[in-house]
Amino acid sequence: MPLPVVAVIGRPNVGKSTLVNRFAGSKDAIIHDQPGMTRDRTYQPAFWQDREFMVVDTGGLVFEDDTEFLPHIREQALSALKEASAAVMVVDGQSGPTEGDQEIATWLRQQGVPVVLAVNKCESVDQGLIQAAQFWELGLGEPYPVSGIHGSGTGELLDELIEHLPVYVPEDEIEEIRIAIVGRPNVGKSSLLNAFVGENRAIVSPVSGTTRDAIDMQVVRGDQIYRLIDTAGIRKKKSVDYGPEFFGINRAFKAIRRADVVLLVIDAVDGVTEQDQKLAGRIEEDGRACVVVVNKWDAIDKDSYTIYDFDRQIDGRLNFVSWAKRIYVSALTGQRVPKILNLVDAAVEQHRRRVTTSVVNEVLEDAVSWHTPPTTRQGRQGRIYYGTQVSARPPSFTLFVNDPRLLKEGYRRYIERQFRENLGFEGTPIRMFWRGKSMRDLERGSANRATKV
Ligand code: GDP
Ligand code: GDP
Repeated sequence: MPLPVVAVIGRPNVGKSTLVNRFAGSKDAIIHDQPGMTRDRTYQPAFWQDREFMVVDTGGLVFEDDTEFLPHIREQALSALKEASAAVMVVDGQSGPTEGDQEIATWLRQQGVPVVLAVNKCESVDQGLIQAAQFWELGLGEPYPVSGIHGSGTGELLDELIEHLPVYVPEDEIEEIRIAIVGRPNVGKSSLLNAFVGENRAIVSPVSGTTRDAIDMQVVRGDQIYRLIDTAGIRKKKSVDYGPEFFGINRAFKAIRRADVVLLVIDAVDGVTEQDQKLAGRIEEDGRACVVVVNKWDAIDKDSYTIYDFDRQIDGRLNFVSWAKRIYVSALTGQRVPKILNLVDAAVEQHRRRVTTSVVNEVLEDAVSWHTPPTTRQGRQGRIYYGTQVSARPPSFTLFVNDPRLLKEGYRRYIERQFRENLGFEGTPIRMFWRGKSMRDLERGSANRATKV
């Protein structure tokens, strides 16, 4: 994950570069070696408290006059803003708001990036507050009086700025877990989202997803960061009547694609529907980990058979994700909601798990000796030479066999069951690839290797 970027924007001469240097604490540490960073801008590493980020000076932004230079500068600001998690708009407190400031502010508000407003050149504390107050009219929220030259006021500004930045996780530290919450309308997705956010108080900040429209959120529990994918989509209320068939399935599909683990939310009152099955199918197909969350558990009458009946219904109707753990919760009362993240952790661990080739082959040998592959009427018998895990997320195995056609669906399912029984992988789909290799192939393979060396 790259460092979050902060774009500094404003008219020429308001003090942008002075402030950038103040944030970065140096004039010369100019680097641009992160992927996605454009070479013709200067990025400076900066930090405030325990948070790291990059500041980029966008050059003066001018709208009112139109020398031929302008489109280029505006282009620059726009592309800087595209990769930025937040922007600092700088204005000149001594000159008061100008038409140019107003135009920049209007434009910025349309970009959908959080903006913090720095009213620069406010050396005098008393005067500064009055000077800053004039800039409320820009509609960008609280104007912070600062002095780039003296450094006064920048602390408050940075306090607010870092609130808008995603938490930076260096590559070698714990990776964040990306969660998609999917389900039909009204199953309680946004209620669950609010419950997560309320419970895990630590840090909640909107971070940009793949598009401005899909706003992700981060929630921290212990030292694990969870990214909740497309919370804007979850919270978007149905102001338009799309009809009963529509439930934003494409948006859900996109969220699934970006997730490590999917919370498939089912409504306990309605039971498992066809749409739930569709989502389950996609989760399996995309190879994502999954937890089935049966919500509104408070809303149904229960006796000692209720859970059992529901389990059976899920077994029968959600067989695409038969490997997923399930949990019965109430977003309304909070019952068992904190346990959801425990299941998420466990599912993700399995999704990322790797087992050694010797373990794979132990399981295979054992499975084959219990139950040898069937022989065809022509007397040909399938043979499994060996297997190995070729990748994770989801765990995928290649099994080298004499002829894949000799190992039919039934036998393949038996082997897969043996894998699950012996190796677990609860919460994640697994993949098996059956590759044909004749004895001659195997020998030729080693011969080729020998001649190449
Ligand atoms: P930029 O064009 O927006 O990057 O602005 P600069 O950082 O180059 O500053 C423009 C001018 O404003 C320079 O003459 C700076 O010395 C002056 N300036 C910058 N910050 C301050 C400040 O906090 N107070 C005062 N009084 N002048 C400042
Ligand atoms: P979304 O469309 O999936 O985001 O669903 P919402 O979170 O907006 O919830 C839809 C409705 O179900 C709201 O009226 C919620 O108050 C209600 N609801 C959500 N969770 C529960 C729950 O656990 N129990 C009950 N009884 N109602 C719930």
